Parts: sequence; structure tokens; C-alpha cells
Amino acid sequence: MNLRKNQAVETYFREVKRYKSILKSTVFFSVIVLLQACQNPPEQNTPREQEKEHPNITKLKGQSSEFTPEIIRLNKNVYVAVGYDGSNASMVIGKNGVVIIDALRALGAAEKVAEEFQKISDKPVKALIYTHGHLDHTGGTSAFTGNSNDVEIIARVGFKSELQENSPVESILKQRNARQFGRDLPSEDVINRGVAPGITPTDRVGEGYLAPNKTFQDSLYISLAGIDFELYAADGETNDELFVWIPDLETLFTGDNYYKSFPNLHAIRGSQYRDVKSWGESIQKMSTFPVKHLVPGHTRPVSGESFVHQNLKNYSTAILSVYQQTIDAMNKGYTLQQTVDSVKLADSLSTRPNLQEFYGSVAWGVRSVFLHYVGWFDGNPTNLYPLTGLQEAKNIIALAGGEQKVKKQLNTALNEGNYQWGLQLADYLLQTDYQKKEVIVIKIKLLRGLAAQEINAPARNYYLSYAYELEKNI
Ligand SMILES: [Zn+2]
Repeated sequence: MNLRKNQAVETYFREVKRYKSILKSTVFFSVIVLLQACQNPPEQNTPREQEKEHPNITKLKGQSSEFTPEIIRLNKNVYVAVGYDGSNASMVIGKNGVVIIDALRALGAAEKVAEEFQKISDKPVKALIYTHGHLDHTGGTSAFTGNSNDVEIIARVGFKSELQENSPVESILKQRNARQFGRDLPSEDVINRGVAPGITPTDRVGEGYLAPNKTFQDSLYISLAGIDFELYAADGETNDELFVWIPDLETLFTGDNYYKSFPNLHAIRGSQYRDVKSWGESIQKMSTFPVKHLVPGHTRPVSGESFVHQNLKNYSTAILSVYQQTIDAMNKGYTLQQTVDSVKLADSLSTRPNLQEFYGSVAWGVRSVFLHYVGWFDGNPTNLYPLTGLQEAKNIIALAGGEQKVKKQLNTALNEGNYQWGLQLADYLLQTDYQKKEVIVIKIKLLRGLAAQEINAPARNYYLSYAYELEKNI
């Protein structure tokens, strides 16, 4: 007994000694590293933000918890699959069957969700409702419905009429889409897509799509699987958007007009005009219902009547405020840039967790509204026939004292963290043939510098994707 005790004591002291020596060597090592750091200042051209994580990046990383895969039970009739794909799919259990709302993007992901839903209820699928035509909500339908013709597939009149496959500039839209979503980025660069996980399933994307067999214009009151549904046309992210209200379950499905982020009033991948005023009014209309559970097209559901109401209210106020401020600035004769510079969200809105610019951006929304109403001419006659890009660049470079001076300023901008200014200077130099390769190398660093402090996932993904493209072509 005693012997064992002694052995135990000995082992204990041995361990303490070991930890002490580890501690000593760690402190020693840290001091050395610190001394080295003092002697060797960070290498020039290293974006400062890469050394320490910017608070915006920490926030954006935090948003990823919205996409943890889970089947969320809202009440005994409503289940929401979050994080299985880029968007949400829901199941409403009725008396004699179930109704599915939205169908994900990849058939493979939809099959997994359908399997989970069947474990909860093996009643037959009676109907499937598309909140809008985007592929991330329509690609996996057959996983839920099979090929049965008895399933009602419901959408708005004009469903999918505005999609990029119908565009004459489809090829460039595809490239911009890949950049916005960071589709070709190495996984270590990917945080998320703002309202979706950074990487989404690719197993048979879109292969389960089935066209609607029932459409409606403004509203539809319909009993499905023994439950009363109210469907309302609600222009916003798309012109085929609708929302679903189930009075008996006090549950509202918003489609992509609502999610936990400032709304993407304009998609930088390139899209048709998203009717900002109607979008705000659609949310306003949602806020008139006594909603206990709010199910967004992306990000986790929101519950609690007053909390939901508050969320919808601040969302519609934010959208309509951006809209109205833009209109007011335009009516004062402001140019596009002056309008962008003048529109701000009030602090009471910009600090709300559901209005962070993870996906949409206030400035992009302003630009979109401005261009929608007056087109490309911003009202300043200087811009009727501006100099060619090359001529402007030559003049500015000459004014600055020559290319070398501009290049020096470019390095200063990079080293001081003025990345946007640096990009603008780099673009002047890139119009000329001056040290093209070297300037591109700096531009890549500037793009990465911006990405390292950007809260908006599409912007971050775009900066990084573009940087890799430049790198490949040097
Ligand atoms: Zn979506």
C-alpha cells in the first residue's frame, strides 16, 4: 500500500517537474519570438489585417452557426431542415399527409432531408410549395414527391421567368456567380456565403426539379393535407416570390424576402432589378400577421410573437429607409456616388443582429435603386462623355508626377492598410504598360487585405476569387 503511495507521490513530482520545464521552455521560446519580432519588423507589403483576425471576420465566422445541420421542430406539425444544403426545406404535417415548402438545390441533399422527414412522419406528401424559382429552393423536388402526379406543386404565375439561363450574358453571370459564392476558392479561404454555408452539396444539383402544376396570381387560400394555407404574392428578392401563412399553426414561411442578414437588395453576381420598395412592403405585410414562428428561406427560424414582430418591423423599416433616403437624395440632384455616400442606416437599425451586412449591403442597394430609376447617367454632365479609361489614367499619372511616384503611393497604400485607395491607384497603372506584373502582384495583396476585413461574404468571396484568378494569369 505504502509502496504504491510512494510511487504515486514520485510520479506526481515527476509530472510537476516536467510541466515546470515545459513552462520554462515555453516562456523562453516566447521571449525569443518576441525579441525576433522586435528586431525584424513585419515584411513590407504584408497586409496588416492578415496578422490578427479582424472583428468583422470573427462576426462573419459566428454567422456560420446559423447553418449547423439540424431538423428543427417548431411545434408538433412543423419541422425545418437547416444546413443540409444552402437553403431550408420544411415539412408541415397535416391530418392526411404532409406539405413540403421548398426543395433545396442538390437532389442528394434533398434525399437525406426526405429520409429524416419520413422518420418523423410517414404520411404521404400531398403538396409542395415553391417560395420562389431560385435553384437553391427548387432542385431537389422529386426526393420529396417521387414522380407522383397526385402531388400538387404550387408556385406563382411567372415562376422562374427571370433566371439567368434566360439571359444573353449567361456566361459572364456564371463566372460572377462563382466569384460571389467562392465556388472555386480553396476550403481554407471559405467562411460562409452570408446566409448559407461556405460549401454546399454538389450531388445531382437541380436534378430533382419538377415544374409547378398549380399557379396563382395574387393570393391563394387552399386546404392542403387537411390544413388551411394562405399564400401571398410578395415581390422582393425575386418577382416570383411568395410567403406562406398557416393561421392554425401561427407559422409564416418568408421565402428569401427574410433571413438573418441585411437583405441582398442587389446581387453582385448580376441580377435583374429587385424591387426594393415592394420588398420592404412585403415584409411590412408579413408583420401584420400574429406570427409565432417565422421560417426564413435561409438561416434558422425565429420564434416568439413579439420577437418575430420586432424582427419583421426593423427589417421592413431598414429596407424602406434605404429606399426613401435614396429617392430623397436623387431628388436633390445628387450624383450616384453622392447618393451612395449620403445613405446610412440609423444606429438603431445597423446594430440589430438580423441587419448585419453578411449577405446584402446598404451601398449596393442604393446603387441598384438609383440605376433602376434613372439609368447609367448620374445627372452630372461631366459624365456624359468622360475621357477614355486610358486617357484618364495617363492624365492622373502625369499629374501625380509619373508612374514611379504612383507605384510608390501604391506600396504606401498597401503598407498602411488603405486597400481600397490602393486598388484605385493600381487600376490607373494597369491601364498603362508600366510594370504590369509587379502592379498585379500588389493588386492581389490589396484584394486579400480587403477580404481579411470584410464582413460581407459575397464581397469577401469576390475579392479572394478575383485575386486567385489574377495569380493564375500572372
Ligand atoms: Zn435562396
